Amino acid sequence: MKSQEVRAQFLRFFEEKMHKIVPSAPMVIKDDPTLMFTNAGMNQFKEFFLGIGTPQSHRVADTQKCLRVSGKHNDLEEVGRDTYHHTMFEMLGNWSFGDPAGKGNGYFKKEAISWAWELLTEVYGIPKENLYVTVFEGSTDADNLALDQEAMDFWKAIIPEDRILMGDKKDNFWEMGDQGPCGPCSEIHVDIRSEEEKQKVSGASLVNQDHPQVVEIWNLVFMQYNRKADGSLESLPAKHVDTGMGFERLCMVLQGKQSNYDTDVFTPIIREIEAISGVDYGKQEETDIAIRVIADHLRAVSFSIADGQLPSNTGAGYVIRRILRRAIRYGFTFLGLKQPFMHLLVKELRYMAQHAFPELKVQQQLIENVIQEEERSFLKTLEQGLGLLDAALKNTEGQTLSGDKAFELYDTFGFPIDLTQLIASEKGFGVDTERFALRMEEQKNRSRKATETSTGDWTVIGTDQVQEFVGYDYLETDIKIQKYRKVTTKKEGDQYQLVFNMTPFYAEGGGQVGDKGYLEAANGNLTYIIDTKRENNEIVHFAKSLPRDPEATFKAIVDKKQRRRTACNHTATHLLHQGLREILGEHVEQKGSAVHSKYLRFDFSHFGKMTVDELRLVENFVNARIAASLPLEEQRTVPMQQALDQGAMALFGEKYGDTVRTIKFGSSVELCGGTHVQNTNELWHFKIVSEGAVAAGIRRIEAITADATKEFYWQNNRQLYEIKDLLNNAKDPVKAVGNLQEENQKLQKQIEALLKEKAQNVKQQLKAEIETVAGVDFLAKQVDLDAAAIKNLCFELGSNADNLFLLFGAEQNGKALLSCYISKELAAAKNLNAGTIVRELGKFIQGGGGGQPFFATAGGKNPAGLGEALAAAKGYLE
Ligand code: ATP
Ligand code: MG
Repeated sequence: MKSQEVRAQFLRFFEEKMHKIVPSAPMVIKDDPTLMFTNAGMNQFKEFFLGIGTPQSHRVADTQKCLRVSGKHNDLEEVGRDTYHHTMFEMLGNWSFGDPAGKGNGYFKKEAISWAWELLTEVYGIPKENLYVTVFEGSTDADNLALDQEAMDFWKAIIPEDRILMGDKKDNFWEMGDQGPCGPCSEIHVDIRSEEEKQKVSGASLVNQDHPQVVEIWNLVFMQYNRKADGSLESLPAKHVDTGMGFERLCMVLQGKQSNYDTDVFTPIIREIEAISGVDYGKQEETDIAIRVIADHLRAVSFSIADGQLPSNTGAGYVIRRILRRAIRYGFTFLGLKQPFMHLLVKELRYMAQHAFPELKVQQQLIENVIQEEERSFLKTLEQGLGLLDAALKNTEGQTLSGDKAFELYDTFGFPIDLTQLIASEKGFGVDTERFALRMEEQKNRSRKATETSTGDWTVIGTDQVQEFVGYDYLETDIKIQKYRKVTTKKEGDQYQLVFNMTPFYAEGGGQVGDKGYLEAANGNLTYIIDTKRENNEIVHFAKSLPRDPEATFKAIVDKKQRRRTACNHTATHLLHQGLREILGEHVEQKGSAVHSKYLRFDFSHFGKMTVDELRLVENFVNARIAASLPLEEQRTVPMQQALDQGAMALFGEKYGDTVRTIKFGSSVELCGGTHVQNTNELWHFKIVSEGAVAAGIRRIEAITADATKEFYWQNNRQLYEIKDLLNNAKDPVKAVGNLQEENQKLQKQIEALLKEKAQNVKQQLKAEIETVAGVDFLAKQVDLDAAAIKNLCFELGSNADNLFLLFGAEQNGKALLSCYISKELAAAKNLNAGTIVRELGKFIQGGGGGQPFFATAGGKNPAGLGEALAAAKGYLE
C-alpha cells in the first residue's frame, strides 16, 4: 500500500465515523508563547480541551505536521541513530471534544479504543497477534492516580489479556508541556520481527524497551486533567479524546519494512543522496546514519521554510538553522560532501509530498534558494573553522586540544564537539572534553537564567463566557476582568496578565503589534496595558500591576495615536503587497510582515535587488491609491471560498477558519484580522526607506506613512538648511560641496609632497650625524615621526650600509616608541639582536616589544624614559 493511500484510508475511515476532516495547522507556531513548533496533533485544539471556545464539530480528524526538536518533546539526538524517530513527522489523529451539555456527538474511551482496533486490524489488515496495548497502571506519587480500569475493561473485550500490558507514568500519561491539558493514555504497539525471533523472545517483553522492531504506533490519550503551575492536577470541565499515530511508522508496518527509511516516504530521497554522494545506503552504520539524518532533516527544514519560517539567528529560525547545519555537517564529515548538496534533494521531496502538502510544490524554488544560500555560508564557516582548528592544533603543546578552544569553535563556528574530536584525532590529538562540557554547562545556565519564566495559575473572578473583541469599532469600552495571573521573567520582572469579558485592545497577530493603553477605575486610578497578545485564542492584556479592586468595572481605553499610526501602516502594507505584485510580477509572495506604529516591514519572495526605478514605481503605485481616497470595504465573516473567489490570497503558514474577514481598498483584497484606516487618504504619503535581502530569494522593504513620513521630510529638510548655512547660503549646495571636495583633494596632494620632502631632509641630516663607535657606524637619536616613517627611514639609511647601528626614539600622542636597526652583516658578526635590545631598553619607557634580529620596535607608556634608553644604546657596542 502506497503511503498516499495509507493516509487517505485513515481520513476516509474517520470521515465515515462522522468526523470533520480539517487541514494540518502550520508546523511553526506564531502566536503561542508556550510552544515554538507543533509537537502533536492536539496543539491546534488546545483551547477546546481547556474549555475556551467551542469547536465547529465535536469529532475531528486530520494529519498534522509535527516537529520534535525542542522543549518537552525533543527527539533530535535519536534521529538517524534509530530508524523510527524523526524530527518532522506526520501525526494522524482523531479527536472528540467532550460536550458537557451532551448536545454534540462527542465520544470517549470505548469508541476510541474499538475504532482504533477496527482500523488497524480490519481496514489495514495488521495481524492481531502482532499487536500489544498498554494501559495506565496508576501512580503513587503526588498525583496519586488510579489504574485506568475503564480502558482496561474495553480492551479486555477485544484482545486477550496477556496482550494488555501495564504502563507507568513515563509511558502512559501524556503531557504536552509542563503545564496544560494531560491525561492517561493507552498505546498500541506493533511487533514486526521475524517469526523466528518472536519464538525466541516474546514481544510483550520488548514493548517500550526502545526495540526498533517493537514500536509504538498509536497513542490514545484520554484528556481529563489540566496540569497547574504548582504541578498539581485539576479535572477538566469535560473529557476529551486525543489520538496520535505516527504516519511513517504505520507505512513501515503496512509496507512490510523494518525501518521508516525503507518506505516510499523516504526511499526516493535516499536514492538521490546515494547518487550525489556516491555512497550506498545499507553498507555501513556510520554512513547510514548520515544518510538518514540528511533525509530526515531535509523534510524538517523544507516544511518549515514552506510555513514561512526561514533559518535565522534567533528563536524558531535558529532551531531550523541548527537542524540544517547538522545535516550539512553529517554530509561533510561522513559522506565527503564538501559542496552544497541539500538543495538538490528538494525536488524529490516535493514530488512525494505535494499531494498532501501542496505548499511544497508551490514554493519549491524558494526552498531550494534558501537552503542553497545557507549551505554556502555554512560551508564557508566550516572552512574558516577548520583553518582555525588547524592553527590551534599546531600551537598545542602536548597531544590534547584545550576545552576552551573546542568551545570557541563550537560557539563561533558552530563546530560540534564530535566534529572537533574527529578532526583532532585524524591528526593524532585528543580533546579536553571535560573542560568543554563545563563551558557548555556554564553557557546553558546563563541562557536558562536569562529566559527563566514562572507562570502562575489563573485566578478566575468572572463567569462571563463571552470574550469578545470589539476593537474594530470601539477604542473605549467598559469591561470586567474575568481572570488574571502573575508571570515573572528575568528580563521583564513581574507582570500581570488580564483577560476581560470584552476588549477594544487588538492582540498582536498577522504581523501587527498588540495595542497599548490603560484601564481607568471609577476613582480615576489608572492601570497601564503595555502589550496585548493572544494565547489559546484568548486575548491576554499585559500590565505592570494589578488594579486595586480587580472585580470592579473599568473603562478600557486604547492608545489612539498608536492605533491610528499602526492602522495607517497596516493599510499601506496591503497596498505595497499589491504594488509589488503589479510591478515586479506574480511571483511576489508575502513572506512576513511587521506592522508597528512607527514603520512597517514587508518581506517577500523576489530573486534580485529592486532597481531605483522599480522602487519609485512601487512608491508611486501606493501613493496613487492614497491620493484616490479609497474607502475601507470590510467583510467580517465571509466563507473562505467566497473570499478566495473575490481575489484574496491565502498565505502559507497561516491558519484560517471556515469563515474569514476580508479587507478591501479598491482592487486590493486581503484576508486579514488587523486594524485599518477608514480611508487611504489618512496615510498622507507613503515612503520606502530601505530595501535589502533577508535570505536567498527573500527581500525586505521598510517603509513609513503619515506622521512618520512628515517627520522624515522635516528632518531631511532641516538637515539641508543646516548644510546650506554651513556653506554660507550657497545657492547650489550640491555644487558647493563638490567644490569643497575638489579643493580638499588638491590640498591633500600638496601635503603629501611636502611630507616627502621633509623626510628627505631629515634623512640627509641624520646621515651627517652618524658617528663611529667601536668601529661601527652608530646613531641614537630622538626623531618625532610615526612608526611607519621611522621604519622607512631605517631601511633607507641602511640600504647601502653593512656596518650600521641605529636606535631611534619617538614620542607620539603621549606614547613612546623605540626602533632599532642593525645591518644584517653587523648583527651576525657581533652577535647583536635588535629584538633583544629593544626588549631590554623597553624597560626605560615602561613597555615591551620585539621583532627580528635586524629590525625591531618597542612601545611604552613613558616618553620621559626615551633619553635614558637612547643613552644606553652605545653600551651594546662597547
Ligand atoms: P516514542 O516513545 O516512540 O518516542 P511517544 O510516546 O513520544 O513515542 P506520542 O507522543 O504518544 O509518542 O506520539 C504519538 C505517536 O506519534 C506515536 O505513537 C508514534 O507513532 C508517533 N511518533 C512520536 N514521536 C515520533 C517521532 N519523533 N518520529 C516519528 N513518529 C513519532
Ligand atoms: Mg517520544
